[in-house]
Amino acid sequence: METNIKLKNFSEWNLINDSRPVIISGPCSAETEEQTLETAVNLKQKGIHIFRAGIWKPRTRPNSFEGVGSVGLEWLKLVKKETGMLLATEVANVKHVYESLKAGIDILWIGARTTANPFAIQEIAEALKGMHIPVLVKNPVNPDIELWIGAIERMNKAGLTKIGAIHRGFSTYEKSIYRNIPQWQIPIELKTRIPRVPLFCDPSHISGNRDLLINISQKALDLNFDGLMIETHPNPDKAWSDPKQQITPDSLKKLINSLIIRREIPEGISLDTIEDIRYKIDQCDDELIEILEKRMNLVQSIGLYKKQNKMTILQSGRWETVLNKSIEKGEKKNLNKKFISNIFKSIHQESINKQTKIMNEL
Ligand code: PEP
Ligand code: MN
Repeated sequence: METNIKLKNFSEWNLINDSRPVIISGPCSAETEEQTLETAVNLKQKGIHIFRAGIWKPRTRPNSFEGVGSVGLEWLKLVKKETGMLLATEVANVKHVYESLKAGIDILWIGARTTANPFAIQEIAEALKGMHIPVLVKNPVNPDIELWIGAIERMNKAGLTKIGAIHRGFSTYEKSIYRNIPQWQIPIELKTRIPRVPLFCDPSHISGNRDLLINISQKALDLNFDGLMIETHPNPDKAWSDPKQQITPDSLKKLINSLIIRREIPEGISLDTIEDIRYKIDQCDDELIEILEKRMNLVQSIGLYKKQNKMTILQSGRWETVLNKSIEKGEKKNLNKKFISNIFKSIHQESINKQTKIMNEL
């Protein structure tokens, strides 16, 4: 579905003139005035200009620490006074919005559980009508791109144009090395459908631990994300929320220094070589389409034959042979097993759809 979303690029937000990647960092939660200030002062010394801290924490289960509440806003005001950093916090309802605006918060973010709820999003959007504050919308907990786009759309309809998106991964019932699986194709599709949306990655909530942070951050940069939101704490193991995934400001600095910054088109580069490779890739893609057309024409013939001879569409033995032989051939040519299996499953599904249509035609 088309979107009618009109946004400003990150550079048009006129917030900071940091080069890519923009880093937003700070604790999962503001816990005490000391912890909040200590983290901010340390981050500022490391060259970070945007400070995040959760004041109200939407927790999955009750009885866990649910944030310090409004008193934390006083600590954030102190952070601004002492360091001059820009402040970002999460809002989940209208009360949070009003209190944050009153406290001079510079950037609001919408948490994953809130994005999944259009009623809450609509109320927040209406409370922000006529404001120019930047809002970062996290992806919903479930892998539903329409919900994510819908939330951005509701904010935009309320007149906001500085709207960014934060990719923080998606919940899954299955066990995974990630706390929230990245499903990179979803933020990529978001960027395709809303090209101007500034895109941030939150590797902390994707990984759920410290070990995967670098890999996820590098991957986000290689996919041309504009920035990263990473949780930091002076004493991560003692954090009141998300202790396993937080790192010290020192470790954050090391992480940033180890990232390789690649650009879509680096300055001074000649495009001749890449254009030549792209030309060949386009030729391959054309050939693929022609082969698929040829294959589907054969499916048409076999469908008619099966219909005339009252044969079932699915011939399990045959499908197994086709899949296994293709995987085997692919492996000999260094093609990933899962990749080949996905392609052939998709071709087989289309072939079944086509044959079903033929069977049902009068
Ligand atoms: C957070 O940023 O601390 C947070 C609660 O994030 P999410 O909404 O992504 O779970
Ligand atoms: Mn957190």
